[in-house]
Amino acid sequence: GLVFHLARRIWTLIPHTRFSAEERRLLRSLPQAVARGEIQPYFQPVVDAGTGKVVAVEALARWIKADGTLLSPGQFIGLAERGGLIRLLTKGIIEHAVRTAAAWRAHHDLDIPISINLSVEDLEASDLVDHLIALCDQHGVPHGAIRVELTETQSIVHFDVVDRAVATLRQAGMAVYLDDFGTGYASLSVLHRIPFTGIKLDQSFIRTLRDDPRADAIVRASVAIAQDLGLSLVAEGVEDWETRDRLGEMGVRHIQGYVYARPMPAPELIAFAQQAQPALTLSL
Ligand code: C2E
Ligand code: MG
Ligand code: MG
Ligand code: MG
Repeated sequence: GLVFHLARRIWTLIPHTRFSAEERRLLRSLPQAVARGEIQPYFQPVVDAGTGKVVAVEALARWIKADGTLLSPGQFIGLAERGGLIRLLTKGIIEHAVRTAAAWRAHHDLDIPISINLSVEDLEASDLVDHLIALCDQHGVPHGAIRVELTETQSIVHFDVVDRAVATLRQAGMAVYLDDFGTGYASLSVLHRIPFTGIKLDQSFIRTLRDDPRADAIVRASVAIAQDLGLSLVAEGVEDWETRDRLGEMGVRHIQGYVYARPMPAPELIAFAQQAQPALTLSL
């Protein structure tokens, strides 16, 4: 009895049981999905609310299976990180993003920077960052046309790795944004010590902005810090015009959210970027 119980306990603690059967199935099919191009970025615009123009787009991974099923990042990014496959996945996303940037420039007269989300696992060896830079050169994409987003939580936990990567990327002329700003336990310390280009204010503050004075105060303070530090600021998760206008009054012009558009396949993004979007009527 006791031996059996102990054996069971140990069995549940060893690594391969960290994954459910479903997760193991997904992990096993992931390399082939990458090879077949089933994992690709959708693109969500960041709009300058002052002018109504698209000023950047974020590449957000989608897994589109052969049967048409669409999986969102929540269903496979964390899993790929835990399963040691995130670098493989990231390489695929990077390829797509750089090729897309090259095509937009060459064929659509569209020179909008594309933001890529990297995980800390992607940065632990320097070769992925080097690969990204080399890929841009190979496709004739200026470094300023690709941006990188790193989450605040990972920047806090893996400070040195992120600090080094940000230095390399910025030396190469790439902008690096601190993603989900305000959700870690050392936001200001990260901003103080790592030379990010800008911040993406987390959705949790934006979502409650209309009726929560505390969120309002935090957004205003973040805007002031960004201005004083010379950082760009993007508000994420903006879903309605009222919130957009309120942000505009606070000096936030760069808006990303369903109010303008959801993440979409590249061809739709081109059409979207070629139209002017509703701009703020208040003067800034
Ligand atoms: P994120 O980088 O903070 O990206 C923003 C997320 O908010 C996206 O979710 C986007 O679809 C969603 N969003 C944008 N506007 C709105 C809005 O108005 N309302 C609401 N409710 N949501 C909005 P998504 O695409 O599901 O991605 C989730 C997270 O997965 C991303 O958060 C990012 O951390 C991660 N991720 C996505 N693609 C990649 C990737 O290629 N590599 C890595 N390492 N992580 C990725
Ligand atoms: Mg992001
Ligand atoms: Mg974010
Ligand atoms: Mg996020």
